[in-house]
Amino acid sequence: MLDQTKNLAPRDLPKGFALLHDPALNKGTAFTEKERDALELRGLLPPHVHSQDEQVTRVLNNLRRISDPLDKFVALNALHDRNEALFFRVLCDNIDEMQPLVYTPTVGLACQKYGLVFQGPRGIFIGTNDRGHVAEVLCNWPYQAGIIVVTDGERILGLGDLGANGMGIPVGKLSLYVACAGVSPQLCLPVTIDVGTNNETLLKDPFYVGLRQRRVTGAAYDELIDEFITAARAVFPGVVIQFEDFANHNAFRLLHKYRDRICTFNDDIQGTASVVLAGLFSALRVTGGKLGDQKILFLGAGEAATGIADLVAAAMVAQGLTESAAHQRCWLVDSKGLVIKSRTDLAEHKVPYAQDHAPIGDFLSAVKTLQPTAIIGVAAVSGTFTKEVLEEMARINQRPIVFALSNPTSQAECNAEQAYRWTNGRALFACGSPFDPVQFNGKTFVPRQGNNSYIFPGVGLGAIVSRARHITDDMFMTAAHTLAHLVTESDLEQGSLYPALPRIREVSAHIATAVADTAYKSGLAGKSRPQDVMADVQSQMYDPRYKSYV
Ligand code: NAD
Repeated sequence: MLDQTKNLAPRDLPKGFALLHDPALNKGTAFTEKERDALELRGLLPPHVHSQDEQVTRVLNNLRRISDPLDKFVALNALHDRNEALFFRVLCDNIDEMQPLVYTPTVGLACQKYGLVFQGPRGIFIGTNDRGHVAEVLCNWPYQAGIIVVTDGERILGLGDLGANGMGIPVGKLSLYVACAGVSPQLCLPVTIDVGTNNETLLKDPFYVGLRQRRVTGAAYDELIDEFITAARAVFPGVVIQFEDFANHNAFRLLHKYRDRICTFNDDIQGTASVVLAGLFSALRVTGGKLGDQKILFLGAGEAATGIADLVAAAMVAQGLTESAAHQRCWLVDSKGLVIKSRTDLAEHKVPYAQDHAPIGDFLSAVKTLQPTAIIGVAAVSGTFTKEVLEEMARINQRPIVFALSNPTSQAECNAEQAYRWTNGRALFACGSPFDPVQFNGKTFVPRQGNNSYIFPGVGLGAIVSRARHITDDMFMTAAHTLAHLVTESDLEQGSLYPALPRIREVSAHIATAVADTAYKSGLAGKSRPQDVMADVQSQMYDPRYKSYV
Protein backbone atom coordinates (compact mmCIF):
# COMPACT_ATOMS: atom_id res chain seq x y z
CA MET A 1 0.00 0.00 0.00
CA LEU A 2 1.17 3.49 -0.76
CA ASP A 3 1.50 6.49 1.45
CA GLN A 4 -0.51 9.61 0.63
CA THR A 5 2.13 11.70 2.40
CA LYS A 6 4.87 10.89 -0.11
CA ASN A 7 5.10 12.40 -3.58
CA LEU A 8 4.56 9.41 -5.80
CA ALA A 9 5.54 8.89 -9.37
CA PRO A 10 2.41 8.15 -11.47
CA ARG A 11 3.75 4.70 -12.44
CA ASP A 12 3.62 3.61 -8.73
CA LEU A 13 -0.04 4.48 -8.36
CA PRO A 14 -3.06 2.34 -9.00
CA LYS A 15 -5.09 4.02 -11.72
CA GLY A 16 -8.69 4.74 -12.61
CA PHE A 17 -11.39 3.00 -10.63
CA ALA A 18 -8.86 1.24 -8.36
CA LEU A 19 -7.36 4.59 -7.35
CA LEU A 20 -10.78 6.06 -6.52
CA HIS A 21 -11.48 3.05 -4.30
CA ASP A 22 -8.21 3.17 -2.40
CA PRO A 23 -9.00 5.33 0.69
CA ALA A 24 -5.30 5.90 1.40
CA LEU A 25 -4.87 7.61 -2.00
CA ASN A 26 -8.29 8.80 -3.10
CA LYS A 27 -8.88 12.57 -3.37
CA GLY A 28 -12.35 12.35 -4.95
CA THR A 29 -13.35 15.48 -6.80
CA ALA A 30 -10.04 17.13 -5.87
CA PHE A 31 -7.99 15.19 -8.46
CA THR A 32 -6.56 17.91 -10.72
CA GLU A 33 -6.91 18.04 -14.52
CA LYS A 34 -3.31 16.83 -14.89
CA GLU A 35 -3.89 13.96 -12.44
CA ARG A 36 -7.12 12.98 -14.20
CA ASP A 37 -5.21 12.74 -17.49
CA ALA A 38 -2.20 10.86 -16.10
CA LEU A 39 -4.12 8.48 -13.86
CA GLU A 40 -6.95 7.39 -16.20
CA LEU A 41 -9.61 9.20 -14.20
CA ARG A 42 -11.29 11.07 -17.09
CA GLY A 43 -15.05 10.57 -16.98
CA LEU A 44 -14.98 8.77 -13.65
CA LEU A 45 -15.44 12.04 -11.76
CA PRO A 46 -17.77 15.02 -12.26
CA PRO A 47 -15.95 17.65 -14.36
CA HIS A 48 -15.43 20.39 -11.76
CA VAL A 49 -12.24 20.16 -9.69
CA HIS A 50 -12.80 21.05 -6.03
CA SER A 51 -10.13 22.11 -3.58
CA GLN A 52 -9.69 20.12 -0.37
CA ASP A 53 -10.91 23.19 1.53
CA GLU A 54 -14.16 23.09 -0.45
CA GLN A 55 -14.49 19.36 0.24
CA VAL A 56 -14.03 20.03 3.97
CA THR A 57 -16.79 22.64 3.88
CA ARG A 58 -19.07 20.18 2.07
CA VAL A 59 -18.41 17.44 4.64
CA LEU A 60 -19.06 19.84 7.53
CA ASN A 61 -22.29 21.11 5.95
CA ASN A 62 -23.55 17.56 5.55
CA LEU A 63 -22.45 16.52 9.01
CA ARG A 64 -24.05 19.50 10.73
CA ARG A 65 -27.39 18.72 9.10
CA ILE A 66 -27.43 15.38 10.95
CA SER A 67 -28.84 15.65 14.47
CA ASP A 68 -28.14 12.20 15.92
CA PRO A 69 -24.49 11.84 17.09
CA LEU A 70 -24.45 8.13 16.18
CA ASP A 71 -25.52 8.99 12.61
CA LYS A 72 -22.70 11.55 12.51
CA PHE A 73 -20.31 8.82 13.69
CA VAL A 74 -21.49 6.54 10.87
CA ALA A 75 -21.12 9.34 8.31
CA LEU A 76 -17.57 10.09 9.51
CA ASN A 77 -16.65 6.41 9.33
CA ALA A 78 -17.94 6.24 5.78
CA LEU A 79 -15.71 9.20 4.90
CA HIS A 80 -12.75 7.46 6.58
CA ASP A 81 -13.40 4.40 4.40
CA ARG A 82 -13.64 6.56 1.26
CA ASN A 83 -11.00 9.27 1.58
CA GLU A 84 -8.60 9.03 4.50
CA ALA A 85 -6.82 12.35 3.95
CA LEU A 86 -10.10 14.26 3.82
CA PHE A 87 -11.35 12.48 6.97
CA PHE A 88 -8.21 13.48 8.88
CA ARG A 89 -8.23 17.02 7.48
CA VAL A 90 -11.80 17.41 8.81
CA LEU A 91 -10.68 16.06 12.20
CA CYS A 92 -7.49 18.13 12.43
CA ASP A 93 -9.14 21.40 11.50
CA ASN A 94 -12.21 20.90 13.71
CA ILE A 95 -10.87 18.91 16.64
CA ASP A 96 -13.16 20.55 19.24
CA GLU A 97 -16.23 19.47 17.25
CA MET A 98 -14.92 16.11 16.00
CA GLN A 99 -13.22 14.61 19.06
CA PRO A 100 -16.53 13.94 20.86
CA LEU A 101 -17.80 12.23 17.68
CA VAL A 102 -14.87 9.93 16.93
CA TYR A 103 -14.15 9.32 20.62
CA THR A 104 -16.03 9.82 23.90
CA PRO A 105 -18.92 10.20 24.35
CA THR A 106 -20.21 9.05 20.90
CA VAL A 107 -17.82 6.10 20.57
CA GLY A 108 -19.44 4.58 23.67
CA LEU A 109 -22.81 4.60 21.96
CA ALA A 110 -21.22 3.19 18.80
CA CYS A 111 -19.68 0.28 20.75
CA GLN A 112 -23.06 -0.49 22.34
CA LYS A 113 -24.64 -0.64 18.86
CA TYR A 114 -21.54 -1.89 17.05
CA GLY A 115 -23.30 -4.83 15.42
CA LEU A 116 -25.90 -2.50 13.93
CA VAL A 117 -23.60 0.30 12.74
CA PHE A 118 -20.86 -2.04 11.45
CA GLN A 119 -20.06 -1.06 7.86
CA GLY A 120 -16.74 -2.71 7.17
CA PRO A 121 -13.65 -4.05 8.89
CA ARG A 122 -10.97 -1.79 10.32
CA GLY A 123 -8.26 -3.43 12.40
CA ILE A 124 -7.54 -7.03 13.39
CA PHE A 125 -9.74 -9.33 15.50
CA ILE A 126 -7.93 -12.12 17.33
CA GLY A 127 -10.18 -14.80 18.82
CA THR A 128 -9.51 -17.64 21.20
CA ASN A 129 -9.91 -19.86 18.11
CA ASP A 130 -6.77 -18.21 16.66
CA ARG A 131 -4.52 -19.71 19.35
CA GLY A 132 -1.32 -20.96 17.74
CA HIS A 133 -1.86 -18.83 14.60
CA VAL A 134 -1.82 -15.24 15.89
CA ALA A 135 1.28 -14.30 13.87
CA GLU A 136 -0.42 -15.50 10.66
CA VAL A 137 -3.49 -13.44 11.52
CA LEU A 138 -1.36 -10.32 12.07
CA CYS A 139 0.41 -10.91 8.75
CA ASN A 140 -2.96 -10.36 7.05
CA TRP A 141 -2.67 -6.67 7.93
CA PRO A 142 -1.50 -4.87 4.78
CA TYR A 143 0.74 -2.25 6.47
CA GLN A 144 3.83 -2.24 8.69
CA ALA A 145 2.28 -1.23 12.03
CA GLY A 146 4.18 1.19 14.29
CA ILE A 147 1.56 1.45 17.03
CA ILE A 148 -1.15 -0.95 18.17
CA VAL A 149 -4.03 -0.03 20.46
CA VAL A 150 -5.43 -3.26 21.88
CA THR A 151 -8.51 -3.99 23.99
CA ASP A 152 -10.20 -7.14 25.22
CA GLY A 153 -13.47 -5.21 25.51
CA GLU A 154 -14.05 -6.03 29.18
CA ARG A 155 -14.31 -2.46 30.54
CA ILE A 156 -15.31 -0.17 27.72
CA LEU A 157 -15.34 3.40 29.12
CA GLY A 158 -17.81 3.33 32.00
CA LEU A 159 -20.04 0.88 30.07
CA GLY A 160 -18.61 -2.44 31.21
CA ASP A 161 -18.14 -5.62 29.18
CA LEU A 162 -18.94 -5.05 25.49
CA GLY A 163 -16.81 -7.93 24.20
CA ALA A 164 -15.71 -7.63 20.56
CA ASN A 165 -17.96 -4.58 20.14
CA GLY A 166 -15.17 -2.76 21.99
CA MET A 167 -13.30 -2.49 18.66
CA GLY A 168 -14.71 1.04 18.33
CA ILE A 169 -12.30 2.13 21.07
CA PRO A 170 -8.94 1.22 19.46
CA VAL A 171 -10.22 2.56 16.13
CA GLY A 172 -11.28 5.88 17.72
CA LYS A 173 -8.14 6.20 19.78
CA LEU A 174 -5.91 5.66 16.76
CA SER A 175 -7.85 8.31 14.83
CA LEU A 176 -6.83 10.67 17.62
CA TYR A 177 -3.19 9.57 17.28
CA VAL A 178 -3.35 10.69 13.67
CA ALA A 179 -5.38 13.86 14.16
CA CYS A 180 -3.76 15.08 17.39
CA ALA A 181 -0.13 14.04 16.87
CA GLY A 182 0.24 13.34 13.15
CA VAL A 183 1.11 9.66 13.56
CA SER A 184 0.85 8.31 10.02
CA PRO A 185 -2.49 6.47 9.53
CA GLN A 186 -0.63 3.56 8.01
CA LEU A 187 1.35 3.00 11.20
CA CYS A 188 -1.86 2.57 13.23
CA LEU A 189 -3.29 -0.89 13.93
CA PRO A 190 -6.44 -1.35 16.06
CA VAL A 191 -6.65 -4.82 17.66
CA THR A 192 -9.44 -6.53 19.59
CA ILE A 193 -8.71 -9.73 21.46
CA ASP A 194 -11.98 -11.62 21.56
CA VAL A 195 -11.95 -13.99 24.53
CA GLY A 196 -15.77 -13.93 24.70
CA THR A 197 -18.11 -11.78 26.75
CA ASN A 198 -20.08 -12.19 29.95
CA ASN A 199 -22.64 -9.70 28.68
CA GLU A 200 -25.78 -11.86 28.35
CA THR A 201 -27.59 -9.27 26.21
CA LEU A 202 -24.80 -9.35 23.64
CA LEU A 203 -24.59 -13.14 23.70
CA LYS A 204 -28.26 -13.23 22.70
CA ASP A 205 -27.98 -10.38 20.16
CA PRO A 206 -28.10 -11.76 16.57
CA PHE A 207 -26.03 -8.78 15.37
CA TYR A 208 -23.25 -9.13 17.97
CA VAL A 209 -19.92 -9.30 16.09
CA GLY A 210 -17.95 -11.46 18.57
CA LEU A 211 -17.59 -15.09 19.59
CA ARG A 212 -20.66 -16.59 21.27
CA GLN A 213 -18.94 -17.73 24.45
CA ARG A 214 -18.37 -16.57 28.00
CA ARG A 215 -15.00 -14.97 28.74
CA VAL A 216 -11.99 -17.25 28.81
CA THR A 217 -9.92 -16.51 31.93
CA GLY A 218 -6.84 -17.76 33.80
CA ALA A 219 -3.94 -19.47 32.01
CA ALA A 220 -5.77 -19.70 28.66
CA TYR A 221 -6.34 -15.90 28.72
CA ASP A 222 -2.74 -15.15 29.67
CA GLU A 223 -1.37 -17.50 27.01
CA LEU A 224 -3.41 -15.81 24.28
CA ILE A 225 -2.26 -12.33 25.37
CA ASP A 226 1.33 -13.57 25.52
CA GLU A 227 1.10 -15.10 22.06
CA PHE A 228 -0.32 -11.82 20.73
CA ILE A 229 2.50 -9.76 22.28
CA THR A 230 5.20 -12.09 20.93
CA ALA A 231 3.62 -12.26 17.48
CA ALA A 232 3.06 -8.49 17.26
CA ARG A 233 6.72 -7.81 18.04
CA ALA A 234 7.88 -10.41 15.52
CA VAL A 235 5.61 -9.23 12.69
CA PHE A 236 6.03 -5.51 13.45
CA PRO A 237 9.50 -5.07 15.02
CA GLY A 238 9.68 -2.12 17.42
CA VAL A 239 5.88 -1.69 17.56
CA VAL A 240 4.43 0.36 20.45
CA ILE A 241 1.54 -1.50 22.16
CA GLN A 242 -1.04 0.52 24.08
CA PHE A 243 -3.44 -1.40 26.34
CA GLU A 244 -6.89 0.15 26.46
CA ASP A 245 -10.07 -0.51 28.44
CA PHE A 246 -9.03 -3.75 30.13
CA ALA A 247 -10.81 -4.47 33.43
CA ASN A 248 -8.94 -3.67 36.68
CA HIS A 249 -7.97 -7.28 37.39
CA ASN A 250 -6.07 -7.56 34.08
CA ALA A 251 -5.04 -3.92 33.47
CA PHE A 252 -2.60 -3.59 36.40
CA ARG A 253 -1.33 -7.16 36.04
CA LEU A 254 -0.58 -6.86 32.33
CA LEU A 255 1.04 -3.46 32.73
CA HIS A 256 3.39 -4.75 35.42
CA LYS A 257 4.12 -7.90 33.45
CA TYR A 258 5.09 -6.16 30.21
CA ARG A 259 6.18 -2.60 30.99
CA ASP A 260 9.87 -3.46 31.47
CA ARG A 261 9.93 -6.05 28.71
CA ILE A 262 8.40 -4.29 25.73
CA CYS A 263 7.45 -0.81 24.51
CA THR A 264 4.01 -0.49 26.10
CA PHE A 265 1.74 1.60 28.27
CA ASN A 266 -1.80 1.64 29.61
CA ASP A 267 -3.53 4.93 28.86
CA ASP A 268 -6.30 4.47 31.43
CA ILE A 269 -3.65 4.28 34.14
CA GLN A 270 -0.60 6.20 32.90
CA GLY A 271 -2.07 8.63 30.35
CA THR A 272 -4.71 9.72 32.85
CA ALA A 273 -2.03 10.17 35.50
CA SER A 274 0.03 12.41 33.26
CA VAL A 275 -2.82 14.69 32.18
CA VAL A 276 -4.00 15.08 35.78
CA LEU A 277 -0.48 15.81 37.04
CA ALA A 278 -0.24 18.51 34.36
CA GLY A 279 -3.52 19.99 35.64
CA LEU A 280 -2.12 20.03 39.18
CA PHE A 281 1.05 21.79 37.97
CA SER A 282 -1.15 24.42 36.27
CA ALA A 283 -3.26 24.87 39.40
CA LEU A 284 -0.10 25.32 41.48
CA ARG A 285 1.03 28.11 39.15
CA VAL A 286 -2.09 29.94 40.39
CA THR A 287 -1.85 29.06 44.09
CA GLY A 288 1.95 29.35 44.22
CA GLY A 289 2.06 26.12 46.29
CA LYS A 290 4.46 23.19 45.94
CA LEU A 291 3.30 19.75 44.86
CA GLY A 292 4.92 18.12 47.90
CA ASP A 293 2.83 20.31 50.22
CA GLN A 294 -0.50 19.23 48.76
CA LYS A 295 -2.87 16.79 50.40
CA ILE A 296 -4.85 15.08 47.65
CA LEU A 297 -8.07 13.22 48.35
CA PHE A 298 -9.34 10.91 45.61
CA LEU A 299 -12.91 9.72 45.29
CA GLY A 300 -12.37 6.33 43.66
CA ALA A 301 -9.45 3.93 43.94
CA GLY A 302 -9.36 2.23 40.55
CA GLU A 303 -7.15 2.47 37.47
CA ALA A 304 -7.42 6.23 37.17
CA ALA A 305 -7.06 7.07 40.90
CA THR A 306 -4.10 4.85 41.72
CA GLY A 307 -2.45 5.61 38.37
CA ILE A 308 -2.67 9.33 39.18
CA ALA A 309 -1.53 8.79 42.78
CA ASP A 310 1.50 6.76 41.60
CA LEU A 311 2.67 9.50 39.22
CA VAL A 312 1.91 12.33 41.66
CA ALA A 313 3.89 10.48 44.34
CA ALA A 314 6.77 9.95 41.88
CA ALA A 315 6.72 13.69 41.09
CA MET A 316 6.79 14.50 44.82
CA VAL A 317 9.78 12.17 45.25
CA ALA A 318 11.48 13.95 42.35
CA GLN A 319 10.99 17.16 44.35
CA GLY A 320 12.70 15.69 47.41
CA LEU A 321 10.05 13.83 49.45
CA THR A 322 10.62 10.26 50.55
CA GLU A 323 8.35 7.68 48.93
CA SER A 324 6.50 7.07 52.17
CA ALA A 325 6.00 10.81 52.77
CA ALA A 326 4.69 11.14 49.20
CA HIS A 327 2.24 8.26 49.69
CA GLN A 328 1.00 9.92 52.87
CA ARG A 329 -0.07 12.94 50.84
CA CYS A 330 -2.41 10.86 48.65
CA TRP A 331 -5.64 9.60 50.26
CA LEU A 332 -8.22 7.40 48.61
CA VAL A 333 -11.91 6.84 49.29
CA ASP A 334 -13.46 3.83 47.53
CA SER A 335 -16.93 2.27 47.70
CA LYS A 336 -16.14 0.94 51.22
CA GLY A 337 -14.82 4.23 52.60
CA LEU A 338 -11.36 5.58 53.37
CA VAL A 339 -8.52 3.29 52.27
CA ILE A 340 -6.77 2.51 55.56
CA LYS A 341 -4.31 -0.04 56.91
CA SER A 342 -6.84 -1.92 59.04
CA ARG A 343 -8.90 -2.90 55.98
CA THR A 344 -8.47 -6.49 54.85
CA ASP A 345 -10.23 -6.12 51.49
CA LEU A 346 -7.69 -3.98 49.63
CA ALA A 347 -6.56 -4.88 46.09
CA GLU A 348 -2.80 -4.69 45.55
CA HIS A 349 -2.84 -1.35 43.72
CA LYS A 350 -4.46 0.40 46.71
CA VAL A 351 -2.06 -0.93 49.35
CA PRO A 352 0.63 1.80 49.03
CA TYR A 353 -2.06 4.38 49.88
CA ALA A 354 -3.54 2.57 52.90
CA GLN A 355 -3.12 5.13 55.69
CA ASP A 356 -2.81 4.74 59.43
CA HIS A 357 -6.18 6.29 60.27
CA ALA A 358 -9.54 5.52 61.82
CA PRO A 359 -12.27 4.43 59.38
CA ILE A 360 -14.26 7.13 57.58
CA GLY A 361 -17.30 6.00 55.63
CA ASP A 362 -18.30 8.99 53.53
CA PHE A 363 -16.56 11.57 51.37
CA LEU A 364 -17.82 14.71 53.14
CA SER A 365 -16.51 13.43 56.49
CA ALA A 366 -13.20 12.61 54.82
CA VAL A 367 -12.95 16.18 53.47
CA LYS A 368 -13.79 17.63 56.90
CA THR A 369 -11.34 15.40 58.74
CA LEU A 370 -8.41 15.36 56.32
CA GLN A 371 -8.66 18.95 55.05
CA PRO A 372 -7.29 18.26 51.55
CA THR A 373 -5.98 20.97 49.23
CA ALA A 374 -7.26 19.03 46.20
CA ILE A 375 -10.11 16.61 45.51
CA ILE A 376 -10.07 14.37 42.45
CA GLY A 377 -13.23 12.51 41.46
CA VAL A 378 -12.68 9.27 39.50
CA ALA A 379 -15.33 6.90 40.88
CA ALA A 380 -17.94 7.33 38.12
CA VAL A 381 -20.61 8.13 40.72
CA SER A 382 -22.53 11.26 39.74
CA GLY A 383 -23.16 14.21 42.03
CA THR A 384 -20.69 13.19 44.75
CA PHE A 385 -19.04 16.62 44.91
CA THR A 386 -22.08 18.03 46.70
CA LYS A 387 -22.72 21.61 47.77
CA GLU A 388 -21.50 20.68 51.27
CA VAL A 389 -18.29 19.11 49.93
CA LEU A 390 -17.48 22.11 47.73
CA GLU A 391 -18.38 24.67 50.39
CA GLU A 392 -16.14 22.82 52.83
CA MET A 393 -13.27 22.81 50.30
CA ALA A 394 -13.71 26.57 49.87
CA ARG A 395 -13.74 27.04 53.66
CA ILE A 396 -10.46 25.14 54.05
CA ASN A 397 -8.64 26.55 51.01
CA GLN A 398 -8.33 29.98 49.45
CA ARG A 399 -8.13 28.29 46.00
CA PRO A 400 -9.45 24.71 46.29
CA ILE A 401 -8.37 22.35 43.52
CA VAL A 402 -11.42 20.44 42.25
CA PHE A 403 -11.10 17.88 39.45
CA ALA A 404 -14.40 16.16 38.58
CA LEU A 405 -13.09 13.66 36.07
CA SER A 406 -15.69 10.90 35.83
CA ASN A 407 -17.14 10.22 32.39
CA PRO A 408 -19.53 10.38 30.69
CA THR A 409 -21.16 13.69 31.66
CA SER A 410 -23.97 11.88 33.49
CA GLN A 411 -21.39 10.41 35.90
CA ALA A 412 -19.57 13.69 36.66
CA GLU A 413 -19.03 14.43 40.37
CA CYS A 414 -20.29 17.98 39.78
CA ASN A 415 -20.69 20.23 36.78
CA ALA A 416 -18.63 23.35 36.11
CA GLU A 417 -21.32 25.75 37.27
CA GLN A 418 -21.62 23.98 40.63
CA ALA A 419 -17.84 23.93 41.07
CA TYR A 420 -17.58 27.71 40.62
CA ARG A 421 -20.83 28.69 42.35
CA TRP A 422 -20.36 26.59 45.46
CA THR A 423 -16.76 27.77 45.96
CA ASN A 424 -17.69 31.38 45.28
CA GLY A 425 -15.66 31.38 42.06
CA ARG A 426 -12.48 30.20 43.77
CA ALA A 427 -12.23 26.60 42.51
CA LEU A 428 -9.37 25.63 40.22
CA PHE A 429 -11.49 23.27 38.20
CA ALA A 430 -10.89 20.59 35.58
CA CYS A 431 -13.44 18.15 34.22
CA GLY A 432 -13.65 14.77 32.51
CA SER A 433 -16.52 15.79 30.23
CA PRO A 434 -16.83 19.02 28.27
CA PHE A 435 -18.69 21.89 29.95
CA ASP A 436 -19.59 25.28 28.49
CA PRO A 437 -18.08 28.47 29.91
CA VAL A 438 -19.72 29.66 33.14
CA GLN A 439 -20.65 33.25 34.02
CA PHE A 440 -20.30 33.92 37.73
CA ASN A 441 -19.97 37.20 39.63
CA GLY A 442 -19.32 39.13 36.42
CA LYS A 443 -16.49 36.80 35.33
CA THR A 444 -16.42 34.19 32.55
CA PHE A 445 -14.77 30.92 33.54
CA VAL A 446 -13.64 28.57 30.76
CA PRO A 447 -13.30 25.07 32.22
CA ARG A 448 -11.21 22.67 30.16
CA GLN A 449 -11.19 18.89 30.07
CA GLY A 450 -8.33 16.95 31.60
CA ASN A 451 -8.54 14.83 28.50
CA ASN A 452 -6.01 12.02 27.95
CA SER A 453 -5.83 13.11 24.32
CA TYR A 454 -3.48 15.90 25.44
CA ILE A 455 -0.97 13.21 26.42
CA PHE A 456 -1.15 9.81 24.71
CA PRO A 457 -0.77 10.95 21.07
CA GLY A 458 2.44 12.83 21.85
CA VAL A 459 3.80 10.02 24.02
CA GLY A 460 3.10 7.48 21.25
CA LEU A 461 4.68 9.70 18.59
CA GLY A 462 7.76 10.31 20.76
CA ALA A 463 8.16 6.57 21.32
CA ILE A 464 7.79 5.81 17.59
CA VAL A 465 10.19 8.53 16.48
CA SER A 466 12.92 7.59 19.00
CA ARG A 467 12.22 3.86 18.57
CA ALA A 468 11.97 3.64 22.35
CA ARG A 469 12.43 0.21 23.91
CA HIS A 470 10.21 1.03 26.91
CA ILE A 471 7.81 3.77 27.96
CA THR A 472 8.73 4.90 31.46
CA ASP A 473 7.13 6.92 34.26
CA ASP A 474 9.80 9.55 33.54
CA MET A 475 8.30 9.97 30.09
CA PHE A 476 4.81 10.53 31.52
CA MET A 477 6.26 12.95 34.06
CA THR A 478 8.06 14.92 31.37
CA ALA A 479 4.87 14.90 29.28
CA ALA A 480 2.98 16.41 32.24
CA HIS A 481 5.58 19.16 32.72
CA THR A 482 5.59 19.92 29.00
CA LEU A 483 1.79 20.16 28.84
CA ALA A 484 1.63 22.42 31.91
CA HIS A 485 4.28 24.75 30.41
CA LEU A 486 2.12 25.21 27.32
CA VAL A 487 -0.72 26.66 29.42
CA THR A 488 -0.59 30.44 28.98
CA GLU A 489 -1.19 33.15 31.58
CA SER A 490 -4.40 34.09 29.77
CA ASP A 491 -5.55 30.45 29.95
CA LEU A 492 -5.02 30.55 33.72
CA GLU A 493 -6.67 33.95 33.99
CA GLN A 494 -9.94 32.51 32.62
CA GLY A 495 -9.73 29.39 34.81
CA SER A 496 -8.38 27.03 32.11
CA LEU A 497 -5.80 24.56 33.41
CA TYR A 498 -5.09 23.13 29.95
CA PRO A 499 -4.29 24.71 26.56
CA ALA A 500 -7.08 25.16 24.01
CA LEU A 501 -7.71 21.90 22.10
CA PRO A 502 -7.08 23.44 18.64
CA ARG A 503 -3.40 23.75 19.75
CA ILE A 504 -3.24 19.97 20.09
CA ARG A 505 -0.77 19.27 17.25
CA GLU A 506 1.65 21.85 18.65
CA VAL A 507 1.16 20.34 22.13
CA SER A 508 1.75 16.80 20.83
CA ALA A 509 4.89 17.86 18.93
CA HIS A 510 6.32 19.31 22.17
CA ILE A 511 5.37 16.23 24.19
CA ALA A 512 6.77 13.87 21.55
CA THR A 513 10.02 15.85 21.56
CA ALA A 514 10.27 15.72 25.36
CA VAL A 515 9.47 11.98 25.42
CA ALA A 516 11.95 11.20 22.64
CA ASP A 517 14.59 13.27 24.42
CA THR A 518 13.99 11.28 27.62
CA ALA A 519 14.46 8.08 25.60
CA TYR A 520 17.73 9.36 24.11
CA LYS A 521 19.07 10.53 27.48
CA SER A 522 18.17 7.34 29.32
CA GLY A 523 19.63 4.99 26.72
CA LEU A 524 16.21 3.63 25.79
CA ALA A 525 16.16 4.89 22.21
CA GLY A 526 16.72 2.59 19.26
CA LYS A 527 18.57 5.23 17.26
CA SER A 528 21.07 7.99 18.01
CA ARG A 529 19.83 11.41 19.04
CA PRO A 530 19.34 13.74 16.09
CA GLN A 531 20.74 17.23 16.52
CA ASP A 532 17.31 18.85 16.42
CA VAL A 533 14.84 16.48 18.10
CA MET A 534 11.83 18.74 17.50
CA ALA A 535 12.64 19.04 13.78
CA ASP A 536 13.01 15.25 13.59
CA VAL A 537 9.59 14.81 15.26
CA GLN A 538 7.91 17.38 13.04
CA SER A 539 9.38 15.86 9.89
CA GLN A 540 7.60 12.60 10.71
CA MET A 541 4.17 14.11 11.41
CA TYR A 542 1.48 13.21 8.88
CA ASP A 543 -0.11 16.14 7.11
CA PRO A 544 -3.57 15.40 5.70
CA ARG A 545 -3.36 18.11 3.04
CA TYR A 546 -3.29 16.52 -0.42
CA LYS A 547 0.03 16.06 -2.20
CA SER A 548 0.34 16.22 -5.95
CA TYR A 549 0.62 12.85 -7.71
CA VAL A 550 1.97 14.19 -11.00
P1 NAD B 1 -12.28 1.80 37.86
O1 NAD B 1 -13.44 0.91 37.70
O2 NAD B 1 -10.90 1.25 37.76
O3 NAD B 1 -12.37 2.55 39.31
C1 NAD B 1 -13.54 3.02 39.91
C2 NAD B 1 -13.27 3.18 41.39
O4 NAD B 1 -14.38 3.86 41.99
C3 NAD B 1 -13.12 1.86 42.16
O5 NAD B 1 -12.01 1.96 43.00
C4 NAD B 1 -14.38 1.78 43.01
O6 NAD B 1 -14.16 1.16 44.26
C5 NAD B 1 -14.68 3.24 43.23
N1 NAD B 1 -16.08 3.49 43.59
C6 NAD B 1 -17.19 2.95 43.05
N2 NAD B 1 -18.29 3.42 43.69
C7 NAD B 1 -17.85 4.28 44.63
C8 NAD B 1 -18.49 5.09 45.59
N3 NAD B 1 -19.81 5.11 45.70
N4 NAD B 1 -17.73 5.86 46.40
C9 NAD B 1 -16.39 5.86 46.28
N5 NAD B 1 -15.72 5.12 45.37
C10 NAD B 1 -16.45 4.33 44.56
O7 NAD B 1 -12.47 2.96 36.80
P2 NAD B 1 -11.36 4.02 36.32
O8 NAD B 1 -10.70 3.55 35.08
O9 NAD B 1 -10.52 4.38 37.48
O10 NAD B 1 -12.29 5.24 35.90
C11 NAD B 1 -13.12 5.90 36.84
C12 NAD B 1 -13.79 7.10 36.21
O11 NAD B 1 -12.81 8.05 35.81
C13 NAD B 1 -14.61 6.78 34.95
O12 NAD B 1 -15.78 7.52 34.95
C14 NAD B 1 -13.71 7.24 33.84
O13 NAD B 1 -14.45 7.65 32.70
C15 NAD B 1 -13.03 8.43 34.49
N6 NAD B 1 -11.74 8.75 33.84
C16 NAD B 1 -11.55 10.02 33.38
C17 NAD B 1 -10.36 10.34 32.76
C18 NAD B 1 -10.13 11.74 32.28
O14 NAD B 1 -10.97 12.58 32.40
N7 NAD B 1 -8.99 12.04 31.71
C19 NAD B 1 -9.37 9.38 32.60
C20 NAD B 1 -9.59 8.10 33.08
C21 NAD B 1 -10.80 7.80 33.72
